[in-house]
Amino acid sequence: MKKILTLLVFVILISCGGQKQIINTPNAIKLEEVKESLEYLASDELEGRSTGSKGIEKAAIYIEDFFKAHKIKPYFKTYRDSFNLKDIVGYNVVGYIEGNDPNLKKEFVILGAHYDHIGKGKAVNGDTIANGANDDASGTVAVLEWAKYFSKTKNNKRSILFTLYAAEELGLKGSGHLAERLKAQNIDLYTMINFEMIGVPRAEDEIMAYISGYEKSNIADKLNGYSGTEIIGFLPKAREYKLFMRSDNYPFYNAFKVPAHAISTFDFTNFDYYHHVDDEADKMDFQHMTNFIKKMIPAIEGMVNTTSKEIKLNE
Ligand SMILES: [Zn+2]
Repeated sequence: MKKILTLLVFVILISCGGQKQIINTPNAIKLEEVKESLEYLASDELEGRSTGSKGIEKAAIYIEDFFKAHKIKPYFKTYRDSFNLKDIVGYNVVGYIEGNDPNLKKEFVILGAHYDHIGKGKAVNGDTIANGANDDASGTVAVLEWAKYFSKTKNNKRSILFTLYAAEELGLKGSGHLAERLKAQNIDLYTMINFEMIGVPRAEDEIMAYISGYEKSNIADKLNGYSGTEIIGFLPKAREYKLFMRSDNYPFYNAFKVPAHAISTFDFTNFDYYHHVDDEADKMDFQHMTNFIKKMIPAIEGMVNTTSKEIKLNE
């Protein structure tokens, strides 16, 4: 055994000695870690994460601690981008990984999800906590996992902002605030993707996920091309319900007029607990979530590394 082990260590040392350190994508994302984060964010302790509550404060601290533990820097002075909503204070949490290319790092890609939820819901068997596991602890966990991944690989030429929004459920207030703030700084935003409800799989004969505003840009084609497999499709219901305008991508589209979309695996047939107290961690399919997070990595890598801005709004 020892000889084999020595040989193995030698091979690993050689393979790490090259110019580019290759991190094995499939092993970088671990189901147990996805599950652990989601179970905490969707736990009763966080009381449904309504903006302004003690529960969402705990969620924000969890996200900040996650960023710190994985050496992801704040983009602003602190991780929090705070805003006032009447008598309550909301805060987005924003992590930053600078691009590794001297020119392309001036361009930004934003990955986001909302970490707030609705707090309480209609009681079912005495349970009133709307845990928001799918909506949108699932998207939040995906963004955290990608932040961790890129902080390890540092293989992004463009800079990436990892953004978790409050007050989505109050009318896209958090993302609206952040979009305006970044617009005022005049950052060069290339693309923005918002992840909403990625905790349950679609039927096996369907494309894994779909994107809102499918026809507004070539982003679905490009992401599928970068990943080498068709992960992102078109869902007629997304257009019918105008989902493009109903989540946190929309304020970024409005402010910057660049490709800004939402990706989801909830297709109105595969989850009965939207804004329901049973939107709980035990309803999530962690194998699916982990697969989705893994599959998106080459797509994101393509997006953050192409020499030119290939993803464009359609005329
Ligand atoms: Zn949502």
